[in-house]
Amino acid sequence: MDRRTIDLKKARILVTNDDGIHAPGLRILERIARSLSPDVWVVAPETEQSATSHSLTLRRPLRSRRLGPRRFSVDGTPTDCVLVARHDLVTGRPPDIVLSGINHGGNLGEDVTYSGTVAAAMEAALLGIRAVAFSQTRDGDKPISWATAQKFAPGILRRLAAIRWSRDMLVNVNFPALPPAKVRGVRSCRQGRRDLGTSVSRGVDPGGRPYIWVGNFRSDASSGRNTDLSVVADGGISVTPLHLDLTHKSTLRDLNEVFA
Ligand code: MN
Repeated sequence: MDRRTIDLKKARILVTNDDGIHAPGLRILERIARSLSPDVWVVAPETEQSATSHSLTLRRPLRSRRLGPRRFSVDGTPTDCVLVARHDLVTGRPPDIVLSGINHGGNLGEDVTYSGTVAAAMEAALLGIRAVAFSQTRDGDKPISWATAQKFAPGILRRLAAIRWSRDMLVNVNFPALPPAKVRGVRSCRQGRRDLGTSVSRGVDPGGRPYIWVGNFRSDASSGRNTDLSVVADGGISVTPLHLDLTHKSTLRDLNEVFA
């Protein structure tokens, strides 16, 4: 258990994402980070890495590119970025906190298991660094408005900086697709689960060959209560602590008897 509270004004903040170094959401998160501390570093993937989850690039070398003071791209995954930042690019002392996002689209329920945005925060947690993943849910194909994230993210981070932080824990934050005045509070909640999971779409390509496309052709319908899905569906901002220990504790108790 990390009982320290972080003074964000003196914190070294590392910003990363999975939408790539040129993504507007990264610029917004960078701006939010700079409003909190002068010591902000950005290390983000060169190209979009959405849904790459917690993958590592093991079979080729990685290259980083310096784009400005304390600002780099890496030709790898979000996890690669956090590792390269920690062990190579961020010099002097390690980051005190890693911020990932702001993802273009929500990371709710089972999205968490596919998300590169959340995985970057997972990698930070494995390195013993506090980490928060931010995602902005979308309203269909409408352009994303970042006003809600800009208004609420600094206060959420100040509150998270003041809590005890458990080992291997990270925090997943999702903003509803609503203007700031319509947001119905910031609420802590558990990870949810959609009633229907990820599916596929079938079609025929211009050459006449059938294809299958995997993707998010599903509704956010969820019967769980007080979950990230229900909070965001109700117009709130969800704040969910996640833990990297995936052990299913009640089954472990059963197994301890079976294998005694
Ligand atoms: Mn993404």
